[in-house]
Amino acid sequence: MITRREAALRLDISVEMARKHGIAGKISEAELDELNDNPPPWLAQSRANRTGKKAVWVQLRCDVCGFEESVRPKKWWPDFTYLTCDHHSIGDIPLPAEGLKRSELDGIGSRFIAIIDA
Ligand SMILES: [Zn+2]
Repeated sequence: MITRREAALRLDISVEMARKHGIAGKISEAELDELNDNPPPWLAQSRANRTGKKAVWVQLRCDVCGFEESVRPKKWWPDFTYLTCDHHSIGDIPLPAEGLKRSELDGIGSRFIAIIDA
């Protein structure tokens, strides 16, 4: 069984939408496959509307240890140069390129700090 959140992730829809359209708190892989292969009208519509638009989910990946997390992207996020878990030290990632100014942004996902060299 997979959770509604995981199902939403794999269908590339929001959790709210999954809930609204009656996807149970836990569904089977077979049910998910069925949704993917024969999407109901609301799902087909959602996918059609989304073509070329911003992703519903982004995969965050730590550049130090490789920890990954799928999250809903926030509008205010800039382009990250690096992402690290908040428990790594800044020395674990390369220094900024010559002439670039480094800034840090915390509160990305559950445990990430974004490093932005600009
Ligand atoms: Zn890490």
